[in-house]
Amino acid sequence: MSFSSDVKAELLTFIKSLDSKHCKTAVLISIINMSGFISLETYDKFVALHNENLEIVKIAKVLLFEVCGIKTDIIENEIVIEKEEDVDKIAVLVGLNSKGCIPMFEGFSNAISKNCCKRAYIGMAFLCCGYINDPNKQYHLEINLNDYKICQELLELISDFKIEMRVITRKGKYTLYCKEAEQIVDFLNVISAHKALLELENMRVIKEVRNNVNRIVNCETANINRVVNTAIKQIEDIKLILELKGLDYLPTNLKDIASLRLKYPEASLKELGEYLSPNISKYGVNHRLKKIHNIAESLKGDN
Ligand SMILES: [Zn+2]
Repeated sequence: MSFSSDVKAELLTFIKSLDSKHCKTAVLISIINMSGFISLETYDKFVALHNENLEIVKIAKVLLFEVCGIKTDIIENEIVIEKEEDVDKIAVLVGLNSKGCIPMFEGFSNAISKNCCKRAYIGMAFLCCGYINDPNKQYHLEINLNDYKICQELLELISDFKIEMRVITRKGKYTLYCKEAEQIVDFLNVISAHKALLELENMRVIKEVRNNVNRIVNCETANINRVVNTAIKQIEDIKLILELKGLDYLPTNLKDIASLRLKYPEASLKELGEYLSPNISKYGVNHRLKKIHNIAESLKGDN
């Protein structure tokens, strides 16, 4: 199962567990807004509800009866309501004027005013037309809508929980989306998908630790490479002097360090200094190796 279907399965259980009339009403309004189509033309009045997920259509059937007293049948994941008084009830429920199809925002915000109802409404919106990526791959959550007003209302409800989603419009469709892990965690909390939330948090921690380890490993590898490259250059300098003049060409203090460098190519400067008696610091070693380098360079110039 994908992460998205895990979230939806958890959400479905939560929505089915709601038992207050206000939250059930919020859920029904959400299904109608997200998965429904309402026509209020005088000679063509109907409401159609459709969703790929049969469980959602079943919830709609139960709630249409419990909240509005409307009896319906499901045919191929769809409910169609044609009785005029039933259509009018639904229009009023979702905040439409049954006569002229004029949006009445007050109707909507009165019905979805309690926090519990807002959560239920947002949860059902995600269930109907939302998607979340596997957080191992990408942080991305979206809800796809067909209607501008419904999109704005949903955006506002979500922002009541301090979650900022963005909107893109494509071919007359509206997509609310969010790409930040923290906001996605907050969203999962709002819709009560707590198991999914914990799972995402775990993945996030693992991802962070893995990134940190990689950073440290890369850093150490870079250091080792630098030490090795420096040693190779020092050995090249010494070999050049050896070939052209012999090591006796160097003053004793430089000759000693040059012999040690050849003998212990992998030793650090600090270790080289400790092989000498008396010991000298890594800065002392570095200073001598620089002198050797300058000598090598001047010999190169002579040839
Ligand atoms: Zn409620």
